[in-house]
Amino acid sequence: MLGKINQLTIVRVGNVFSFSTLQEIGDRLLTAFEGIIGDYQVSHHESPVTDSIDAYLLTMVLHTEYRGHTLGITDADLKTDDADEFYNVIIGGKNPCNDVAVVSTRKLSPARIESNTDYELLVNRTVKVSLHEVGHNLGLTDHGTYTFAADGALCPMSKGEYNKFGYSGYVRAVVDGRGVRFCDECNYFLHVVHGRQRQDPRS
Ligand SMILES: [Zn+2]
Ligand SMILES: [Zn+2]
Repeated sequence: MLGKINQLTIVRVGNVFSFSTLQEIGDRLLTAFEGIIGDYQVSHHESPVTDSIDAYLLTMVLHTEYRGHTLGITDADLKTDDADEFYNVIIGGKNPCNDVAVVSTRKLSPARIESNTDYELLVNRTVKVSLHEVGHNLGLTDHGTYTFAADGALCPMSKGEYNKFGYSGYVRAVVDGRGVRFCDECNYFLHVVHGRQRQDPRS
Protein backbone atom coordinates (compact mmCIF):
# COMPACT_ATOMS: atom_id res chain seq x y z
CA MET A 1 0.00 0.00 0.00
CA LEU A 2 1.96 2.94 -1.28
CA GLY A 3 -0.43 5.73 -2.12
CA LYS A 4 -3.92 6.96 -1.48
CA ILE A 5 -6.32 4.09 -1.62
CA ASN A 6 -9.55 6.04 -1.34
CA GLN A 7 -9.37 6.82 -5.07
CA LEU A 8 -9.44 3.96 -7.59
CA THR A 9 -8.65 4.22 -11.30
CA ILE A 10 -10.34 1.50 -13.36
CA VAL A 11 -8.50 1.10 -16.65
CA ARG A 12 -10.02 -0.62 -19.64
CA VAL A 13 -7.16 -2.35 -21.46
CA GLY A 14 -8.17 -2.93 -25.08
CA ASN A 15 -11.85 -3.25 -25.93
CA VAL A 16 -13.25 -5.22 -23.03
CA PHE A 17 -16.67 -3.92 -21.85
CA SER A 18 -18.43 -0.65 -22.54
CA PHE A 19 -17.82 2.37 -20.35
CA SER A 20 -21.28 1.98 -18.81
CA THR A 21 -20.46 -1.61 -17.80
CA LEU A 22 -17.17 -0.42 -16.28
CA GLN A 23 -19.16 2.15 -14.33
CA GLU A 24 -21.48 -0.59 -13.10
CA ILE A 25 -18.42 -2.56 -11.96
CA GLY A 26 -17.00 0.59 -10.32
CA ASP A 27 -20.28 1.29 -8.49
CA ARG A 28 -20.37 -2.25 -7.15
CA LEU A 29 -16.75 -2.00 -5.96
CA LEU A 30 -17.58 1.27 -4.17
CA THR A 31 -20.52 -0.40 -2.44
CA ALA A 32 -18.37 -3.35 -1.30
CA PHE A 33 -15.57 -1.03 -0.09
CA GLU A 34 -17.83 1.69 1.28
CA GLY A 35 -16.00 3.78 3.86
CA ILE A 36 -12.60 2.99 2.27
CA ILE A 37 -12.79 3.75 -1.46
CA GLY A 38 -14.70 6.98 -1.93
CA ASP A 39 -14.47 7.48 -5.65
CA TYR A 40 -13.32 5.90 -8.89
CA GLN A 41 -12.62 7.06 -12.39
CA VAL A 42 -12.71 5.05 -15.59
CA SER A 43 -9.89 5.35 -18.09
CA HIS A 44 -8.82 3.64 -21.30
CA HIS A 45 -5.44 2.17 -22.16
CA GLU A 46 -4.83 1.52 -25.86
CA SER A 47 -3.61 -2.00 -26.38
CA PRO A 48 -2.96 -3.91 -29.58
CA VAL A 49 -5.44 -6.72 -30.21
CA THR A 50 -3.63 -9.63 -28.67
CA ASP A 51 -4.36 -13.04 -27.25
CA SER A 52 -2.25 -12.63 -24.17
CA ILE A 53 -0.45 -10.00 -22.12
CA ASP A 54 2.34 -10.51 -19.61
CA ALA A 55 0.61 -9.82 -16.29
CA TYR A 56 3.66 -8.38 -14.55
CA LEU A 57 4.52 -6.12 -17.48
CA LEU A 58 0.94 -4.84 -17.62
CA THR A 59 1.00 -3.89 -13.93
CA MET A 60 4.28 -2.01 -14.49
CA VAL A 61 2.91 -0.15 -17.54
CA LEU A 62 -0.28 0.83 -15.71
CA HIS A 63 1.71 1.89 -12.64
CA THR A 64 3.89 4.17 -14.76
CA GLU A 65 0.91 5.60 -16.58
CA TYR A 66 -1.58 6.10 -13.73
CA ARG A 67 0.25 5.78 -10.39
CA GLY A 68 -1.78 5.05 -7.29
CA HIS A 69 -4.56 2.60 -6.73
CA THR A 70 -5.40 1.04 -10.09
CA LEU A 71 -7.46 -1.86 -11.45
CA GLY A 72 -6.79 -2.89 -15.06
CA ILE A 73 -9.39 -5.04 -16.85
CA THR A 74 -8.54 -6.84 -20.09
CA ASP A 75 -10.08 -9.53 -22.27
CA ALA A 76 -6.63 -10.90 -23.16
CA ASP A 77 -5.17 -13.82 -21.20
CA LEU A 78 -2.84 -12.70 -18.42
CA LYS A 79 0.37 -14.71 -18.60
CA THR A 80 2.92 -15.29 -15.87
CA ASP A 81 6.32 -16.93 -16.18
CA ASP A 82 5.29 -19.81 -13.93
CA ALA A 83 6.64 -23.06 -15.32
CA ASP A 84 3.40 -24.88 -14.53
CA GLU A 85 1.09 -24.66 -17.54
CA PHE A 86 -1.92 -24.37 -15.30
CA TYR A 87 -0.60 -21.43 -13.29
CA ASN A 88 0.93 -19.47 -16.14
CA VAL A 89 -2.43 -18.02 -17.11
CA ILE A 90 -4.24 -16.15 -14.36
CA ILE A 91 -7.71 -14.64 -14.01
CA GLY A 92 -6.42 -11.90 -11.75
CA GLY A 93 -3.24 -10.73 -10.10
CA LYS A 94 -1.70 -7.95 -8.08
CA ASN A 95 1.81 -6.58 -8.18
CA PRO A 96 3.09 -6.60 -4.58
CA CYS A 97 5.48 -3.72 -5.37
CA ASN A 98 2.78 -1.20 -6.32
CA ASP A 99 -0.97 -0.71 -6.04
CA VAL A 100 -1.90 -2.13 -9.42
CA ALA A 101 -4.25 -5.11 -9.77
CA VAL A 102 -5.27 -6.69 -13.08
CA VAL A 103 -8.18 -8.92 -14.08
CA SER A 104 -8.70 -10.93 -17.26
CA THR A 105 -12.21 -11.72 -18.48
CA ARG A 106 -10.93 -14.37 -20.90
CA LYS A 107 -11.42 -17.40 -18.63
CA LEU A 108 -14.44 -15.85 -16.92
CA SER A 109 -16.57 -15.59 -20.02
CA PRO A 110 -19.22 -18.19 -20.81
CA ALA A 111 -18.45 -20.04 -24.08
CA ARG A 112 -20.86 -17.74 -25.94
CA ILE A 113 -22.50 -14.51 -24.94
CA GLU A 114 -25.94 -14.81 -26.50
CA SER A 115 -28.22 -13.25 -23.92
CA ASN A 116 -28.31 -10.64 -21.16
CA THR A 117 -28.01 -13.51 -18.68
CA ASP A 118 -24.69 -14.59 -20.23
CA TYR A 119 -23.44 -11.00 -20.14
CA GLU A 120 -24.57 -10.46 -16.54
CA LEU A 121 -22.79 -13.68 -15.54
CA LEU A 122 -19.56 -12.34 -17.05
CA VAL A 123 -20.00 -8.96 -15.33
CA ASN A 124 -20.73 -10.65 -11.98
CA ARG A 125 -17.63 -12.83 -12.28
CA THR A 126 -15.53 -9.81 -13.21
CA VAL A 127 -16.84 -7.93 -10.15
CA LYS A 128 -15.97 -10.87 -7.87
CA VAL A 129 -12.43 -11.29 -9.21
CA SER A 130 -11.97 -7.50 -9.09
CA LEU A 131 -13.10 -7.47 -5.43
CA HIS A 132 -10.47 -10.11 -4.69
CA GLU A 133 -7.63 -8.23 -6.41
CA VAL A 134 -8.61 -4.79 -5.08
CA GLY A 135 -8.85 -6.51 -1.68
CA HIS A 136 -5.15 -7.42 -2.10
CA ASN A 137 -4.43 -3.76 -2.90
CA LEU A 138 -5.94 -2.96 0.50
CA GLY A 139 -3.74 -5.57 2.21
CA LEU A 140 -6.20 -8.45 2.48
CA THR A 141 -4.70 -11.92 1.97
CA ASP A 142 -6.01 -15.10 0.35
CA HIS A 143 -8.07 -17.62 2.27
CA GLY A 144 -6.62 -21.00 1.29
CA THR A 145 -9.77 -22.60 2.61
CA TYR A 146 -13.38 -21.81 1.81
CA THR A 147 -14.35 -18.98 4.11
CA PHE A 148 -17.91 -17.75 4.19
CA ALA A 149 -19.36 -14.32 4.80
CA ALA A 150 -22.41 -13.73 6.99
CA ASP A 151 -24.72 -13.96 3.98
CA GLY A 152 -23.62 -17.59 3.37
CA ALA A 153 -21.64 -16.89 0.17
CA LEU A 154 -17.88 -17.37 -0.04
CA CYS A 155 -15.81 -14.36 1.06
CA PRO A 156 -14.30 -12.68 -2.04
CA MET A 157 -10.81 -13.48 -0.66
CA SER A 158 -11.50 -17.25 -0.78
CA LYS A 159 -9.06 -18.78 -3.18
CA GLY A 160 -9.91 -22.46 -3.03
CA GLU A 161 -7.93 -24.96 -5.03
CA TYR A 162 -7.16 -24.63 -8.72
CA ASN A 163 -6.16 -28.05 -9.88
CA LYS A 164 -9.13 -29.81 -8.44
CA PHE A 165 -11.52 -28.28 -10.93
CA GLY A 166 -9.65 -27.12 -14.03
CA TYR A 167 -10.36 -23.57 -15.13
CA SER A 168 -14.05 -23.64 -15.99
CA GLY A 169 -14.76 -25.78 -12.94
CA TYR A 170 -12.77 -23.40 -10.76
CA VAL A 171 -14.70 -20.42 -12.05
CA ARG A 172 -18.03 -22.14 -11.44
CA ALA A 173 -17.15 -23.53 -8.01
CA VAL A 174 -15.09 -20.74 -6.50
CA VAL A 175 -15.73 -17.50 -8.41
CA ASP A 176 -19.48 -18.08 -8.80
CA GLY A 177 -19.62 -19.22 -5.17
CA ARG A 178 -18.22 -15.93 -3.94
CA GLY A 179 -20.52 -13.13 -2.86
CA VAL A 180 -19.78 -9.43 -2.58
CA ARG A 181 -19.50 -9.32 1.20
CA PHE A 182 -16.36 -10.02 3.20
CA CYS A 183 -16.06 -12.50 6.06
CA ASP A 184 -15.62 -11.47 9.71
CA GLU A 185 -11.84 -11.82 9.52
CA CYS A 186 -11.56 -9.55 6.46
CA ASN A 187 -14.07 -7.06 7.90
CA TYR A 188 -12.01 -6.92 11.08
CA PHE A 189 -8.87 -6.18 9.04
CA LEU A 190 -10.65 -3.45 7.05
CA HIS A 191 -11.86 -1.96 10.34
CA VAL A 192 -8.47 -2.01 12.10
CA VAL A 193 -6.26 -1.06 9.15
CA HIS A 194 -8.55 1.24 7.18
CA GLY A 195 -10.84 2.47 9.94
CA ARG A 196 -13.98 1.25 8.30
CA GLN A 197 -17.05 1.19 10.54
CA ARG A 198 -18.16 -2.31 11.49
CA GLN A 199 -21.16 -3.31 9.44
CA ASP A 200 -24.26 -4.95 10.81
CA PRO A 201 -23.99 -8.44 9.29
CA ARG A 202 -27.79 -8.69 9.05
CA SER A 203 -28.22 -5.58 6.94
ZN1 LIG B 1 -5.44 -13.72 -4.17
ZN1 LIG C 1 -12.46 -12.98 4.11
